Amino acid sequence: MPKAMVVDWQRILNGQGWATPRWPREWGGPGWSANQIYIFTEEYQRACAPDPMAFGVVMAASVILRFGSGAQKRRFLPRFANLDGWWFQGFSEPDAGADLVSLSTRATRDGDGWPINDQKTWTSCAHYADWMFALVRTSREERKHASISFMLIDMKQSGVVVRPIIRIDGAHEVNEVFLDDVYVPDENVVGTVGKGWSYAKFLLGNERFGMARIGLHQAHLAEVRRLTQGRLRNGRPL
Ligand SMILES: Cc1cc2nc3c(=O)[nH]c(=O)nc-3n(C[C@H](O)[C@H](O)[C@H](O)COP(=O)(O)OP(=O)(O)OC[C@H]3O[C@@H](n4cnc5c(N)ncnc54)[C@H](O)[C@@H]3O)c2cc1C
Repeated sequence: MPKAMVVDWQRILNGQGWATPRWPREWGGPGWSANQIYIFTEEYQRACAPDPMAFGVVMAASVILRFGSGAQKRRFLPRFANLDGWWFQGFSEPDAGADLVSLSTRATRDGDGWPINDQKTWTSCAHYADWMFALVRTSREERKHASISFMLIDMKQSGVVVRPIIRIDGAHEVNEVFLDDVYVPDENVVGTVGKGWSYAKFLLGNERFGMARIGLHQAHLAEVRRLTQGRLRNGRPL
């Protein structure tokens, strides 16, 4: 779906109060129970409604809701809900994919923030994005998982270069992202410095919620039944 349509759809959902079904009432969500969320998700998918862009409302929001500061919640959550600003996930690197904990993008403390250097890759939709949530190495601690932090990086600053990776089918979905002294102020570090690996695991658990698209598959199966009902091939039900 083109970016403009994704944004329009998200705003329609937000107007209806359905853009953030899993958020608490306090932050603009409906405050639904797990059962209500499950029913909503299944019915939404059975209606073949388009998936909302998950980077903000599902992924980054899950971490900010649980671990973010009050200021981060006030600043970012309403923007996620209305898709005011496009986000993407900066986890993978050329030598850190399945073995993500080996990531080497580094932030070195300087004043009240962190200049960041190195490269992310396979970033979906980074060519549209205003912001990246990223895992960054912030110390030389021996235990790799204890030296990663979770940062919110403003893409509209010098030092950011996004280069397309064109897929084998010719589509432009993923990108390489190069960071050259890109600055992240302390206020855009989520939670505790060095705890980013735990936050990433929490985020990935949320990312996977709904991935099975059970409602959508039920709808597709019902359509296959409808199309084949009463039809025979070689004397047997199609
Ligand atoms: C379409 C697409 C969109 C993506 N979007 C994003 C995104 O938005 N943001 C982002 O951060 N990442 C994104 N990714 C990256 C994705 O998360 C990685 O591809 C994934 O983490 C695997 O990393 P890799 O491709 O480097 O594979 P590798 O790590 O090179 O692994 C290749 C294969 O080797 C296997 N393997 C690796 N190590 C071992 C081992 N020690 N023992 C046995 N088997 C092993 C793996 O299981 C896999 O089958 C995207 C990828 C794709 C294809």
